[in-house]
Amino acid sequence: MKNKILIANRGEIAVRVIRACKELGIETVAVYSEADETSLHVKLADEAICIGGARSKESYLNMNSVLSAAISTGCNAIHPGYGFLSENAQFVEMVERCNITFIGPSSKTIAAIGDKASARAIAKANGVPIVEGSDGIVENAQEGLKIAKKIGYPVMMKASSGGGGRGISIVRSDEEFLNAFERTSLEAETSFGDKSLYIEKFIESPRHIEIQIMADHKGNVVHLFERDCSMQRRNQKMIEETPSPILNELLRRKIGAAAVKLAKAINYVNAGTMEFLVDPKGNFYFIEMNTRIQVEHPITEMITGVDLVKEQIKVGYGKELSFKQHNLKINGHAIECRINAEHAMKGFIPTPGKITNILFPGGMGVRLDTHIYPGYEIPPFYDSMIAKLIVHAPTRLEAIKKMRVALEQFVVDGIHTNIEYQYLIMHNPDFIKGQYDTGFIARFNTLVEAENRE
Ligand code: ADP
Ligand code: ADP
Ligand code: MG
Repeated sequence: MKNKILIANRGEIAVRVIRACKELGIETVAVYSEADETSLHVKLADEAICIGGARSKESYLNMNSVLSAAISTGCNAIHPGYGFLSENAQFVEMVERCNITFIGPSSKTIAAIGDKASARAIAKANGVPIVEGSDGIVENAQEGLKIAKKIGYPVMMKASSGGGGRGISIVRSDEEFLNAFERTSLEAETSFGDKSLYIEKFIESPRHIEIQIMADHKGNVVHLFERDCSMQRRNQKMIEETPSPILNELLRRKIGAAAVKLAKAINYVNAGTMEFLVDPKGNFYFIEMNTRIQVEHPITEMITGVDLVKEQIKVGYGKELSFKQHNLKINGHAIECRINAEHAMKGFIPTPGKITNILFPGGMGVRLDTHIYPGYEIPPFYDSMIAKLIVHAPTRLEAIKKMRVALEQFVVDGIHTNIEYQYLIMHNPDFIKGQYDTGFIARFNTLVEAENRE
């Protein structure tokens, strides 16, 4: 039987997966919503099937539609990309029952470690440090209040099924607690269909450091070093770099070992990422695992030379990992800027619309993962990310300089983007020194606003 993969996603990641399949000589089927008929992934795949209405619920999140599309086109595997159904254990179980290969871990693994409250318990049981907080889900607001008092303010309330920075609130006092609890569980319910919340102590000025894991069915588990994703807007990443400017060899080895240990403990298979917070003293705490390919995976590819998506597919089809831990080395420095259709200085509101013209940057060490093209109309229904600009250079400073040039030469007409905003950050003295934490962008915006008022 010939291999054929359905890509259950849209946008740049669908394009990324199609490219990997083509290089491997595997046929591809794209799925699309009524709003995505003119999307690039539809044009690039060998076949394309419309799976429903514009809203995600009617199409990309419609499990029966996606599965029917895979069956009717004779696909023997599904690549989920990120977001949408990629971490949905119920969907993965349906895929497994149809004898279709899910390119990712098993539904059981996703159910256990994909749920953030349960992941904390698993990490703790395996001796991986977690942030002080509730034991699992908080039953009600009163119970939450008790836990918050015990660990001390500020605390974070987090949706157990959350992702993309949504369903997270910081609470600074008893007075704020009850309201915040109601609001956050409602947000969790509407965004993720699950209102369960858990509580963590708020770590002050942390860095977000995550470890890329790759594992096969033979029990081989390796890590591909870290990514520093501390540059965030509203708890969602905006710039990522590797290696992290704050890790020394010892800390890098320790966090990497903790991630591998946890992956082995849960018999993890395929690509995954363990996310940690590192406090200013260098203590690290596991916060969650993403059981899928991540948005920022290209920077790891640039410094290791490993094509993570091709490796995911090969492992999905039962192959062993093509490398061992000792084959992997950090080569140079890579940075990614997420290019979003948004108004960075107006609360990051999305700015969908028609792109009239584009000039793409290029040159040595410049990579652009995107689905946009001149004349493309960005639909208002999905994520605002329209491109990922990635640079790779021998040193961090050279990478920053390369990113500045690439941003300068990246023109998108017709809509607002955060290209200029990213350009500003690439010139910020603290960023250049590598001295920033997850609160950087919030402080930066307050500063720029004040300057604009003067
Ligand atoms: P990453 O985790 O890959 O670094 P993001 O957190 O930005 O990147 O998530 C990538 C995409 O997946 C975004 O579109 C985000 O909205 C979506 N996403 C992530 N987790 C979830 C989830 N649990 N439920 C729904 N969407 C999610
Ligand atoms: P998501 O599933 O949305 O990616 P995460 O649990 O990974 O949620 O958290 C997203 C971001 O929120 C982190 O990278 C960090 O910036 C912030 N954050 C999460 N938990 C804490 C915490 N306990 N203390 C401080 N910041 C936190
Ligand atoms: Mg996260």
